[in-house]
Amino acid sequence: MNELLKEYAKLAIRVGANVQKGKLLVINCPASCYEFARLLVEEAYLAGAKSVDVNFSDDGVSHSHYKYGDIEELKKVQNWQIERLKHYVDEEIIMLAVSAPTPGLMADIDPKKMQEVSIASSMQTMFFREYQGSPKCQWSIVAMPTIPWAKKVFPNESDEVAYNKLLEAILSASRVKADQDSVEAWNAHVDSISKHNEILNKFNFKTLHFKNAKGTDLHVGLVENHIWCGGDEVSSEGVHFNPNIPTEETFTCPDKYRVDGVVYATKPLNYAGNLIDGFHLRFENGKVVEYAAENANEALKSLIEYDEGSCYLGEVALVEHDSPISQSGILFMNTLFDENASCHLALGRCYTINIKDGNGKSKEELEALHCNHSMTHVDFMFGSEDMEVIGETYNGEMIPIMKNGNFCID
Ligand code: ZN
Ligand code: ZN
Repeated sequence: MNELLKEYAKLAIRVGANVQKGKLLVINCPASCYEFARLLVEEAYLAGAKSVDVNFSDDGVSHSHYKYGDIEELKKVQNWQIERLKHYVDEEIIMLAVSAPTPGLMADIDPKKMQEVSIASSMQTMFFREYQGSPKCQWSIVAMPTIPWAKKVFPNESDEVAYNKLLEAILSASRVKADQDSVEAWNAHVDSISKHNEILNKFNFKTLHFKNAKGTDLHVGLVENHIWCGGDEVSSEGVHFNPNIPTEETFTCPDKYRVDGVVYATKPLNYAGNLIDGFHLRFENGKVVEYAAENANEALKSLIEYDEGSCYLGEVALVEHDSPISQSGILFMNTLFDENASCHLALGRCYTINIKDGNGKSKEELEALHCNHSMTHVDFMFGSEDMEVIGETYNGEMIPIMKNGNFCID
């Protein structure tokens, strides 16, 4: 297993973040993954990083902060923290995040409290978020299991077996396997995503129509000059990097005001420590006008009411039902994975990479293009084995894009 983890670290550093010579790499990592962090740091130096900062965190510690900490105190971002982020921007850092979540841990915390703290800290560190979202910043997220997460995915197994099964599933979805060169296998996969992007970009669809037996019947308008992206991104310095490992999606920017109909989620959404399940959203002129969830309706409410933009869409993504993550049949209870098993939408902010010349556009300029702005971005899954997607072109042509959950345009 250690050899496979080394391969995984190599994939994260060399392809995901694509660490370049002389750069400062910042790794945000749960303390429970310290052994994997060691592999990442070693590989980063071998790739030529001039230095590596590792910021360890812990969900249990965060939980205590939220449970017992005074809200005014929690909202403060200390000067030294701001100074550190300013230094990161000056250094034009490369970022790598290790995600190893503990689902459900925050269930006893008032979602409003978490939301207020998150908004306050976002406001004070806006300059850093802007850097992160700009094409200057190479970044990537990879995942590692935690026992609580593994036990949610494999409830009938012992801690150890569940952990190992989840680790194996994560590695295999990332194309890290004993009998193959993971970097080569990964790059071949990313090429096939690029092909879909190319085809969809050529059609330049005006609207997508999603329909399935579950009741989804949704028209999603796309902004003019939208760009389909996925797999691979290129920084302003021309360096290729892969923000998400694993990834299967090809995604673009919806028209904030041209979304109409109803969408039924097909997988639970893990939001702010809550598992929102069995929910639907109804849109009119782009806005969520009605919604309901069987579980954690309050959490869904707090997401939709998060800010002005969180009741509008910022992303529409196509994922084949036959993708390996989907075929594994494992419900990961984690967006990073589950979004790759299913077509999804995101409430909240759009990605400027999905708009021609979008980078560096102000909030007002984005609004004029009908591109949504928000401080949040939360994906939810609605794809299914019978999903049909039809694209309408500006000439009124109807082109089937997906049939029975898979692409039919290649
Ligand atoms: Zn997505
Ligand atoms: Zn997203």
